Amino acid sequence: MSGAHFAFTDRWGGVSAAPYEELNLGGAVGDAPEAVRGNRELAAKSLGLDPDLVVWMNQVHGADVAVVDEPWGEGPVPDADAVVTARRGLALAVLTADCVPVLLADPVAKVVAAAHAGRPGMVKGVVPAAVRAMVGLGAEPGRIVARTGPAVCGRCYEVPEAMRAEVAAVEPAAHAETSWGTPAVDVCAGVHAQLDRLGVCDRARTPVCTLESKDHFSYRRDRTTGRLAGYVWLD
Ligand SMILES: [Zn+2]
Repeated sequence: MSGAHFAFTDRWGGVSAAPYEELNLGGAVGDAPEAVRGNRELAAKSLGLDPDLVVWMNQVHGADVAVVDEPWGEGPVPDADAVVTARRGLALAVLTADCVPVLLADPVAKVVAAAHAGRPGMVKGVVPAAVRAMVGLGAEPGRIVARTGPAVCGRCYEVPEAMRAEVAAVEPAAHAETSWGTPAVDVCAGVHAQLDRLGVCDRARTPVCTLESKDHFSYRRDRTTGRLAGYVWLD
């Protein structure tokens, strides 16, 4: 797609020691800060990005959207679960280990967004909020390209029956069942249903389940573990 780039990392190719091996990109999971910094540099360079121009979020499972036009700089990284920019040259990044990383781009309006959609964020509507913020900057839903990355799948994400009912009351498409026949939630299906209702039709999902894949970090599988990143940027 003209000028829009999407990338999702796996866990290999970095410098972190166990249990964060190797390419942990999360700064709040107990890993050595210098390892995380080194990994962020390695990942950015492998994508042809300037590590100083990658915008991260302090993700809190909410639905707040930060609109940015420059890197955060030296101060604290603000709480947000989606970040949007119309500034070319900035890359937006989202951290996950089972939650759904959502990357959005309108290559015509030159507006991009990254969102963190776990179960709470999907229910709160963080992805529709990101799309609305993009529209505020000139994007049109019919032009937005959406890519979702590696996440725990609906056949693995077991939840109590009451929780499945709560989620499905808000987003019926997320109603799921595990491969062993118990209640589950398919967060990614919920995200795609939300995008579809907004008119975002150019969508694709990465067919990787983090919990099933040894090449990806999974919080539900390993508890103490690293974070993957999704990156979106424009030329
Ligand atoms: Zn799975």
